[in-house]
Formats: sequence, C-alpha cells, structure tokens
Amino acid sequence: MSDQPFFGHIIDGEEVPSAGGETFEVWNPWTREVWASAADGQEEDAHRAIASSRRAFDEGPWPRMSRAERAGAIHALADLMEARSDDLATLDSTNMAKPFAQAKHDVARSVHNFRFFADHQRDHTGEVFPMDSGHHSYSEFGPAGVVAAISPWNFPLMMATWKIAPAIAWGNTCIIKPSEDTPASVTLLGRLATEAGLPDGVLNVLNGHGAPAGSTLTGDDRVDRVTFTGSSQTGKLVMASAATHLAPVSLELGGKGANIVFDDADLDNAVHWAIEAIFRNAGQICLAGSRLFVQDGIYDAFMERFVAAAEALTIGDPFDPTTTFSALASRKHFEKVSSYVQQAKDLDGTLRTGGVADDGTWVVRPTIIEGLGLDSAPYCEEIFGPVCVVNRFDTEDKAVHLANDTRYGLNAMLFTENLSRAHRVASRLKAGTVWVNCFFIRDLRTPFGGVGDSGVGREGGDFSREFFTEPKAVVMQIDRG
Ligand code: NDP
Repeated sequence: MSDQPFFGHIIDGEEVPSAGGETFEVWNPWTREVWASAADGQEEDAHRAIASSRRAFDEGPWPRMSRAERAGAIHALADLMEARSDDLATLDSTNMAKPFAQAKHDVARSVHNFRFFADHQRDHTGEVFPMDSGHHSYSEFGPAGVVAAISPWNFPLMMATWKIAPAIAWGNTCIIKPSEDTPASVTLLGRLATEAGLPDGVLNVLNGHGAPAGSTLTGDDRVDRVTFTGSSQTGKLVMASAATHLAPVSLELGGKGANIVFDDADLDNAVHWAIEAIFRNAGQICLAGSRLFVQDGIYDAFMERFVAAAEALTIGDPFDPTTTFSALASRKHFEKVSSYVQQAKDLDGTLRTGGVADDGTWVVRPTIIEGLGLDSAPYCEEIFGPVCVVNRFDTEDKAVHLANDTRYGLNAMLFTENLSRAHRVASRLKAGTVWVNCFFIRDLRTPFGGVGDSGVGREGGDFSREFFTEPKAVVMQIDRG
C-alpha cells in the first residue's frame, strides 16, 4: 500500500473513498512528481453527497439554528483553520507551486471569508418598508437549500471558501467540488469542518473531474443553487446544466484585465502594482492585469522600471522563502501558456523579457511583450499566465476605448494622481471592479463579478445574500381604517 497522502470525499462528516474505489493522481508541479492521490467521484458518489446535503438541509439542525449559533460554529471552523494555517498553505503550495508566503496570505483571506459571512448574516437580517396604505412590509432572507459549488485550481482554498462561507452562513448546506488539479486543501478544510462540529452534510467535499462529478451536481434537481468559478467555456456548460432544473447560477469566469497607466501616475506605485497584477501567482489570476496600456509621456520610463522589476522576481521552489515566482500549476497549463508565448513570437511581438524557461521545469518566466496586433490571440484571449501584453496610448478617450474593447469585463486598474480623471475613467470602464492606484484589495461588502464573458451575477456582502437565499416579502395590514 502506498504511503502517499490520500484525499477522500468528505460526506456526512466522514472521509470516504469513491464507492467503486476510483482514484486519480495528484501532482506537484514544481517537482513534476505525483505526491498524492484522491478519490475520483463518479455519479454514484455525487448522488451520495447530494442526498447527504439534502437530508442535512431538510431534516438537520443547520437551517433551523439561531443566527448566533451558526455564526459560532463558523467562527470555530475559522479558529481551526488559523491553527492549521501552515498545513493548509503547505497543501496549496505543494499542489500548485504557489509561493508559500502567497499561500499563507490566501489562508488568511479564506479565514476572513468565514468570519465575515458568519457576522454578516447576523447583521443583515432584512429590511423594513413602511407603507402609506396602512400596511407594513418587510423582507426575510431564508436559506435557499442545497448549494453546489465548483471551484478552480488557481486559488484552491480561497476560491472555495469564497463560495462555501456565504452558502453555509446563510443556512444552506453545500457540496464543494474542487478542481481535479488541486483537491488537497479543500479536503483538509472538510476534515476541519467535521472537527469543528459542523453538523453532518452541511459541508460535503466531492473530489473528482468536471465530468462526471461536477456535471452531476449541476444537473441534479435536488440542488437549489450553483456557484462556479472557472473558464467562460465551462461556465456556459454549467449554466445550461443548471437551467434544466431552473437553479439560479452565479458564474465568475475569465478575464483580460486592462491596466492603464497615465502620464501623471506615481511611477513607483504603478510599477509595484503592475508587477503584482500580472506576476502574482504566476499570473494565474482571473483578475490579472494582462493588457497594459501606458501613456506616451511616461512610456519609456515606466517600461524600463517594469522590465527591471519583472527580472528581479526570484523564480524557484515555492517553499524557499526567497521565492516570489514559481512553476505553473500543471503540465497542461504550462503547455497552454507556452503556446501563447510562441504565438506572440511568431506574430513578431517584441519580447522585452521572459519566455519559456526551457529547462524541463513547468516555468514560464515573467514575460512582457510589445508590438502585438489588437486582434492577435495573445492580446485578445485569456492566457491565465505570466504574460503581459503592452501597448501605448495618447489620450484618455483612447485608453478607455482600448480597455473596453474586449469581450471580458471582470476588472480594470488605473493609475493617476488626478482625482477627477480617476473617477471619470473608473466610471467609464466596462468592468465589475475597478482598482485605482492599487490591485487585489477587497472589501467583502462590495459586489464582485464580471461583465460579458466574465460572468453572471455578483457575490459579496448583500449580493451574496441575494444569491444564497430565497428573499421573501411579508405584507401586513396594520390599520383597518
Ligand atoms: P475549467 O473551467 O474547466 O475548470 C474549473 C472547474 O470546473 C474545475 O473544478 C473543473 O473540474 C470544473 N468543471 C469542468 N467541466 C465541468 C462541467 N462540465 N461541469 C461542472 N464542472 C466542471 O478550467 P480549467 O481548469 O480547464 O482551466 C482552463 C482555463 O480556464 C484556464 O487556462 C483559464 O484561462 C480559465 N480559468 C479561469 C479561472 C478563473 O478564476 N476565472 C480559474 C481556472 C481556470 P476539473 O478540474 O476536474 O476539470
């Protein structure tokens, strides 16, 4: 018997293998070795998870608990996550070559997701609408039922908790299907949920592939909500599947974020955030600032510093504390990103720095490309890697036009010291989130989601409440006149 770690499903508070014993290999993309295995969920396993979550919702204590009790249980889980934060981060770093410091940051944000929604559901209970007609109305937000959550591999723990936390905080039960590339940290989270005493079936973890594990969840009429983060292409499949039983969907999909640097930007700040926006997590971020637009007057000075800062990143083992940049998450993804770099070269793009490491690793070095056509694939399509395509612009109107000329619209960044311009441009950008003079900062009360191919719906604060509950209006006569 292998002494490698095994990540089972967590169903009804127990870690179990697939009923038929199916497993898949789990890879370490830095060492390029298999380091673990995981249960490969089939239809039968998905049905078992759904039945468990259904039972926990229809008959269990969770939706019927007081808000304070539910908050207490979720904070207890968050406490355990904090106590095990090194272990959770180690799993993400091993599983997808995320530099350990970045993985620790993700764990902290994951803990915050739980704490925030535990408190939010206590405070945002409903609204009162006094009426002139002698009636009184108010809204109630009851749980929706069973939530199927499907999460990607780029932020294995953080994206999963962004879905699980509001789902369970609002009294639902939840089945999470992590990406097949990164089952580890979410399985540990499921173990911690059992340890924290969450009732059986409140959080089930179903490991396995998009199909059949994910697709069985999204297409089952015992599931009341579907929340998905991943590619736009798969998002369409998920939406069609959920439509067969009219389950509302929340889709957070791809992006091709514009990053606009105006002549009057604070150069050091703009360079710092432009680097973060495209090279953090090796660019495997839907929010990446992958299309960079720099105004003529600052172009040369900016590019000199930007290229130097990219070259100063330390590429290496994700567990080496000096490492700021590591391998891509899988061989398949490495090949995809590499092919875009090759296309850029074939199209006579100018590689200012970077390129495929070409040393047998799955590393694509921080890559900056100029001179690509606005209709070329590397410019238009989501590469989801450390590849920044740069163009210059002259006027504010031109910058807005370039930024908005995409089928995506998840986020944009702009750098300027001119207050009026900051507000004016932020308002004109086609994007769910606009960061001014920063990147990646979130207040969980604000709406998060995208326009166009970047998704459907918003989550965050009351927007999550809308999605994960069945809002109800109660109208009462108070004056019989
Ligand atoms: P996918 O969209 O295929 O995967 C995302 C999640 O959906 C995974 O858990 C996946 O499972 C699951 N899934 C796949 N097919 C189905 C289905 N039919 N029904 C239900 N769930 C399904 O992304 P990939 O991992 O293949 O990455 C491809 C590209 O997508 C990337 O290169 C990137 O451009 C983009 N992407 C965007 C992300 C974002 O944050 N917006 C995150 C990840 C990827 P499994 O892993 O088992 O296939």
